[in-house]
Amino acid sequence: MDANVRLRDIPSVDELLRSAILVEAVECFGRPAVTEALRKVLATTRDDVRKGGELPPADAIITKAVAALEENDRSTLRPLFNLTGTVLHTNLGRALLAEAAIDAATAAMREAVALEFDLASGKRGERDDHLRALICELTGAEDATIVNNNAAAVLLVLNSLAAGREAIVSRGELIEIGGAFRMPDIMLRSGVRLVEVGTTNRTHARDYRDAIGPETGLLMKVHTSNYRIEGFTKEVGARELACIAHERGLPLVNDLGSGTLADLERFGLAHEPTVSEAVSDGADIVTFSGDKLLGGPQAGFIVGRTAFIEKINSNPMKRALRVDKIRLAALEATLRLYRDPDRLSERLPTMRLLSRPKTDIGDQAARLASVVEHALKSACRVSVVDCESQIGSGALPLSTVPSAGLALTPHSGSGRTLADLAAAMRCLPMPVIGRIERGSLILDLRCLEDEDGFVANLAHLDPPGEGPSS
Ligand SMILES: *Cc1c(COP(=O)(O)O)cnc(C)c1O
Repeated sequence: MDANVRLRDIPSVDELLRSAILVEAVECFGRPAVTEALRKVLATTRDDVRKGGELPPADAIITKAVAALEENDRSTLRPLFNLTGTVLHTNLGRALLAEAAIDAATAAMREAVALEFDLASGKRGERDDHLRALICELTGAEDATIVNNNAAAVLLVLNSLAAGREAIVSRGELIEIGGAFRMPDIMLRSGVRLVEVGTTNRTHARDYRDAIGPETGLLMKVHTSNYRIEGFTKEVGARELACIAHERGLPLVNDLGSGTLADLERFGLAHEPTVSEAVSDGADIVTFSGDKLLGGPQAGFIVGRTAFIEKINSNPMKRALRVDKIRLAALEATLRLYRDPDRLSERLPTMRLLSRPKTDIGDQAARLASVVEHALKSACRVSVVDCESQIGSGALPLSTVPSAGLALTPHSGSGRTLADLAAAMRCLPMPVIGRIERGSLILDLRCLEDEDGFVANLAHLDPPGEGPSS
């Protein structure tokens, strides 16, 4: 049969739309999307037929269109298994929220709330009012406000307190955090001139004192979140730096980065300066993140002296950086959990995951090794390995937490390379993200809580050699 004859036999969009499967697809995805998907499949079918290919049965055309619709409907922001070993992974969305926070956020999404409305007086209120007292209680600060994230907090604080003037920072603290947050760039954008003092490894009290002049607006201390300077070093501690600032009537701003409200040693982790310590050491303003060790949604906290917080709140930039009711609700519920530190590791996923004992994770790895090997149709060797989990997001940059996991190593000749294997895991309905290390895909199981879901998900793995399905 020549191609023209076969082309005439290709069904029309309208004919295909009458099939039961596509009637259902219209219910699910809407008529315009289904029609568009069919047009695309029919166009490629026509091309194939013109090139001499067989005319596929109508069922095959329908199946292709439905597969395309399903793929197109799948969110790229869908949940995944973070088995990277980094608990607060910035690229994977950092902290998982506590159930109490999820409930509070959901309720705030569904209903009207008294966001800027004072229920007692019936007058206008402020959105910070809901959290101020709680933050002050937990940190010992006089006052507090909340913005979009800690980068916004730093930008707003600098602009509010020192625009057109100078901020003095140690050369050892001029950090760059992933994603183009560089302290010198933030200073520039906030309209503050950076005055660097000391050297990379050593900064003395006299370096700060000598740099203070009529143009100085503030002194700043920055937590070196993702590195440590070791060896022949000297830094001026927060308490001493506060004294130096106050001698000259200047404020000290301390950017804590992650910050923590709890004593991490309780959870078997190394000490990280708490927000209360930074406040009691005399900083006038302390900034920290909501979604790092604190374990809440993305947010930036600014806490400190009332006079400075008022100045910050009257900056028109505050409006551009403020948070919405959903996050405020989640933050409030998260902060409330800190009133009972004994139950934090039960209720706050960040602490629960960070404090999970290695023996527990090792037992899980032993249970899962053969299950995973079987799901991979024995294309890989799967072995239980020791891991070191990282906290991530610039908290405790040098400390790791002993953990356990699985090493997946493709057999040579299995038709599956390491890159194929990692891609197949990323293409699962619930993507599995590990890390490649020394010829294996390592799955650190510290953050694997839904073991049954993980196993069920593996049933969707493509057979080796076929690669991810489209
Ligand atoms: C992480 C971090 C920031 C940025 O905080 P985000 O909440 O990610 O905006 C700023 N400063 C320091 C020291 C940090 O560690």
